[in-house]
Amino acid sequence: MAKKKIGFIGLGAMGKPMAKNLIKAGYDLTVHDLNPQPVEELLSLGAKKAKTPAETAKGVEVIITILPADDEVKAVALGPGGVLEGARKGSVFFDMSSIAPHTSKYVAAEAQKRGVKFLDAPVSGGTIGAEKATLTIMVGGDKALLDEHMEIFQAVGKTIYHVGNVGMGETVKMVNQMLVGINLVGIAEAFVMGTKLGVAPEVLYKVIRASSGNSFLIDHRVPDYIFSGNFTQPGFAIDLLRKDLGLALESARSIKVPLFMTGQAYQYYTRATAEGLGKKDMSAIIELLEKTAGVEVRGKVE
Ligand code: NAD
Repeated sequence: MAKKKIGFIGLGAMGKPMAKNLIKAGYDLTVHDLNPQPVEELLSLGAKKAKTPAETAKGVEVIITILPADDEVKAVALGPGGVLEGARKGSVFFDMSSIAPHTSKYVAAEAQKRGVKFLDAPVSGGTIGAEKATLTIMVGGDKALLDEHMEIFQAVGKTIYHVGNVGMGETVKMVNQMLVGINLVGIAEAFVMGTKLGVAPEVLYKVIRASSGNSFLIDHRVPDYIFSGNFTQPGFAIDLLRKDLGLALESARSIKVPLFMTGQAYQYYTRATAEGLGKKDMSAIIELLEKTAGVEVRGKVE
């Protein structure tokens, strides 16, 4: 059976490598982004270009979006010149951005009115996972629809979970992000403290990796970002993590669940944003603490 035509919107740190993997897997891709640079890169690999989200959706069976936050998803999906203006009846729309579950439900309902089926399918695994097509994908919506399009998800991800109705993918992602935000502040505090007390950062890293304090984020952020001090390489922006923690706090307010740690972490990332670090990778949160403690956690890893 011929591979489905895909319209792909949002060629950022995550979307660009994901789109490349879809081309590699043999899909016919039409792409759109406000930034012309990644669009040109995709064109050189064989993708077609669309001027608007509506135009992106027009001739395709599947539309994928991976955009920063709720406002961008709503504008791209529902706005003038948006996906639902161009999408044909019977096409499917997968939003892979990390947004509020209620926004996914709203977009799904609007899509349904126009005969378009919707899944929320946020991802985890970072830019490396996007490049290597090893992302974890958490999908909310009709399971049969997911099964029917499993090959597309497998072209960008490795572990694909169906987690419930529309909005549940985003709910699981939000919970994961609470752990990311809290864990990273913990790593920053611990490594600044140890370094200030005179332990070489490399020693802390080596020993903690073999101890109970280790975590995914120690593996993926300490050597490449923190030790190198290069926080501007492709990664996950502080602005985006702050957005994710904000979504968790907003959800918790309505259901009256106290989130002390998430609230504290949110304040750290807000302070970082206020100090101009918002576009840097989330691991740059350590720069705030380094400044306060008068120490830098830099090192080499053999
Ligand atoms: P990014 O800011 O690097 O990319 C977003 C892209 O969307 C940009 O290229 C931007 O130009 C484009 N865009 C914004 N508004 C647009 C519009 N109205 N029309 C067309 N294009 C528009 O963000 P990212 O890091 O790729 O993250 C995308 C989503 O994936 C976010 O929701 C984020 O929380 C989530 N996410 C990111 C990572 C990560 O490690 N970077 C990991 C998991 C999930």
